[in-house]
Amino acid sequence: MKTSEIMAMLKAKHPGENEYLEAVQEVLESIEDVYNQHPEFEKARIIERLVEPDRIYTFKVVWVDDQGQIQTNLGYRVQFNAAIGPYKGGLRFHKAVNPSMLKFLGFEQIFKNALTTLPMGGAKGGSDFDPVGKSDNEIMRFCQAFMLELWRCIGPDEDIPAGDVGVGGREIGYLNGMYQKLARQYHTGVLTGKGMTWGGSILRPEATGYGALYFTEHVLNRAGKDIKGMKIAISGFGNVAWGAVKKSIQLGAKVVAISGPDGVCYVKDGMTPEMNDYMLVMRASNRNMVKDLADKFPAQAEFRAGKKSWSIPCDIALPCAFQNELAEEDAKELVANGCFCCCEVSNMGCQPEAIAYFQKHILFAPGKAVNSGGVATSGLEMTQNSQHLSWTADEVDKRLHQIMTSVFEQCVQYGGRPDGTVDYVKGANIAGFMKVARAMLEQGVI
Ligand code: GLU
Repeated sequence: MKTSEIMAMLKAKHPGENEYLEAVQEVLESIEDVYNQHPEFEKARIIERLVEPDRIYTFKVVWVDDQGQIQTNLGYRVQFNAAIGPYKGGLRFHKAVNPSMLKFLGFEQIFKNALTTLPMGGAKGGSDFDPVGKSDNEIMRFCQAFMLELWRCIGPDEDIPAGDVGVGGREIGYLNGMYQKLARQYHTGVLTGKGMTWGGSILRPEATGYGALYFTEHVLNRAGKDIKGMKIAISGFGNVAWGAVKKSIQLGAKVVAISGPDGVCYVKDGMTPEMNDYMLVMRASNRNMVKDLADKFPAQAEFRAGKKSWSIPCDIALPCAFQNELAEEDAKELVANGCFCCCEVSNMGCQPEAIAYFQKHILFAPGKAVNSGGVATSGLEMTQNSQHLSWTADEVDKRLHQIMTSVFEQCVQYGGRPDGTVDYVKGANIAGFMKVARAMLEQGVI
């Protein structure tokens, strides 16, 4: 297999699908050498089969807004690969959603889910619906209209969606309610990220952020450092950023920045638990403005319009917002200001040039390893659902911690460099790929 040949073939077949092509290129570059040491993979054409999704559902979503106007959006579910378990992955509601974005996310999900040690295949879905400025009733009507089509594609042993950008507990509630109505199935197993009284797992809302911090701690400890007292710059203020801030505070670190599309809030003395709680109010308002934090806590937080979190001096950078949110110039600014570790929490949050710069100068770990605690805890939610019981917070947290340790160890095993350092990108990609490739091989040409 030659990365350049596969990429040329994919570029010709899928012109303009830039996010998808970027995600595939990164994985192929990492695995090329290992792949070529396994002629059985080449014989079974594993790569050619892995880079195309099993199927993509596309549907129209029509709903009525609060003004009585009829709105039309597009909905999708990309079922990418089910070699190691049923399709599993989130739903993204964002105005920029298109097939390329969901194919990149679905592709990444295959390897991420494989790393969690749990039996879950890769999928992603969503819509170009823009939740910004929408009322609660509009969100509900949209979710119901979306499920009117999606319900036929999913099922507890087939495909289990969850949240992602723009889809949190509230949206999962509306989606689940409509699913039950349509399917006349009252089990709890078709979506994860559910509410605590109807099948949800304790700690699922926190899990992506908590898992990211457990992974970051491992990276730091391996480099002989302690997270306590470290200054952390976080981007975004949604569910993932919220969980990351919460765990950072618990671990004694100082979160000096969170951000939004309008700018950054610089918090010189570190975020407090009260500020962390207020992030939930900010997200629920659908205003999408981080300035609200500085308005609420004017003595502690300073709003800087149009600036990113990467302009704030820190020890550790945790991108928690959106793909390609951290460019090469941001990476340079961070490193120049003393940052020595970037753990990517958002999916493909760093542009390829930024990753290359980080890898040359500081510690870097990729999203598919760092953020895998979210989907891992979805897997734990599925286990609890199928056993018809709920574990305690301690039980879930212990398992999440174990899983993040295992993800970290797999990265070290496959990404170790001769000088003793670790290429976490390579490690995560190879570890995830080997598991899926072997599963595909053993199950024949299907
Ligand atoms: N959207 C999350 C992710 O990117 C979670 C998916 C899930 O829980 O299924 O991994």
